[in-house]
Amino acid sequence: MADLAPSKGKLAGKVAIITGGASGIGEATARLFANHGARMIVIADIQDQLGLQVAASIGAQNCIYFHCDVTKEDEVKALVESTVRDHGQLDIMFSNAGILGKSEQTVLDLDFSAFDRLFSINVRGMAACVKHAGRAMVEKRVRGSIVCTASVGASHGMKRRTDYCMSKHAVLGLVRSASLQLGMHGIRVNSVSPNGLATPMTCAALGMAVEEVEKVYEGQRCLKGVSLREGNVADAVVFLASDESSLITGHDLVVDGGFASGGNLER
Ligand code: NAD
Repeated sequence: MADLAPSKGKLAGKVAIITGGASGIGEATARLFANHGARMIVIADIQDQLGLQVAASIGAQNCIYFHCDVTKEDEVKALVESTVRDHGQLDIMFSNAGILGKSEQTVLDLDFSAFDRLFSINVRGMAACVKHAGRAMVEKRVRGSIVCTASVGASHGMKRRTDYCMSKHAVLGLVRSASLQLGMHGIRVNSVSPNGLATPMTCAALGMAVEEVEKVYEGQRCLKGVSLREGNVADAVVFLASDESSLITGHDLVVDGGFASGGNLER
């Protein structure tokens, strides 16, 4: 990715929050937002050391770290309020924090304590971010962009990982409802749906190293001869966050290298 002159970037002057920004897709997106001229990127995560490192490597002038557990609504509220107070407004919320969970459960052996934990992050946390970002944008009359990370599992069934699949279906419901409700304020709400990326989340869940996970996923994509990386998802997020997509709302943008269209959703 070539560095762009900030004034020419697609996100020039914008203030953005990225949840789950310390790692994987969120980290790659923070770096790309900076390349596209975002004025301030607030990385929100629970991995403090990693988040501080990522923010420092992007540069204190336009990236900071803020501890925020998205399961705690007061922390999400504080994240948004401090961003608006310190940087004037919020233009972009990339609500991306999520977990896959370690267990592989069919509906017959659902473990509801794991289920509740996963839903508190993937569904309630996502909704809290949309709620407080939406409120701040409405209050400041910002025609902002909210992007949520769903998954190809949001629009297909999965043979295992029932709770994860259900949680990502809920994200699409949130995006579609919020896009209807916030459209009158000029606020757009969309989702990005990746699948098959070797990030810390998938490597930990599958118990495999990055190279092994990449090999598994590569064999399952329609598109051959390409490797799907976090930066490819970040490109889609930049598009949805920028004015290039100014007439797109309530949309789910799939970035999976033809994984689902090849019928290979389950891992
Ligand atoms: P990742 O583990 O690298 O990143 C997820 C980040 O979310 C981590 O930094 C983690 O600390 C943070 N996080 C977890 N719980 C949190 C909480 N309660 N509050 C704040 N932050 C929290 O994984 P990733 O693959 O980059 O995942 C990012 C998103 O992409 C997730 O929503 C995931 O479901 C989605 N996704 C990933 C894939 C894939 O193939 N990797 C596929 C579909 C969807």
